[in-house]
Amino acid sequence: MGGYSVIIPVLSPTVAYRQLIPDNITINADVYCSGRQPPPLSEEESTLPRNTRVELARLRAERSLLLEKYKAKVENRPVESCIKCSDDVGDLNSFLKCYPAKPLPMSKLWKDPVAAVTALGLAVTPFDPGGDADP
Ligand SMILES: [Zn+2]
Repeated sequence: MGGYSVIIPVLSPTVAYRQLIPDNITINADVYCSGRQPPPLSEEESTLPRNTRVELARLRAERSLLLEKYKAKVENRPVESCIKCSDDVGDLNSFLKCYPAKPLPMSKLWKDPVAAVTALGLAVTPFDPGGDADP
């Protein structure tokens, strides 16, 4: 702090203020950050392993390689029809209808993330290299 001097004569008040910001940058950044709320994340979801949370986010954005439509686009090939219902949409709706043992409502991806990833067979606990057989 201190020692930062600005020579102003030709600057307008606005420019002079901008020039002064370096001295106050920490305070300004704090105010700025506290004014921005992160999107709500369910408490539950924060307990999931990182890989699972990433996959969940990809699914919500329809940018997951689990989705045939997205995978086909990435691989630059036509969408293959579903082996269960033979539709060739391959989007998130189709995925949630046919991939889990029973159809999963899309809202569960947001409202009930743990149940959703369980139904989709994604990890709900971090991989344990110890290999204990605890249930
Ligand atoms: Zn299907």
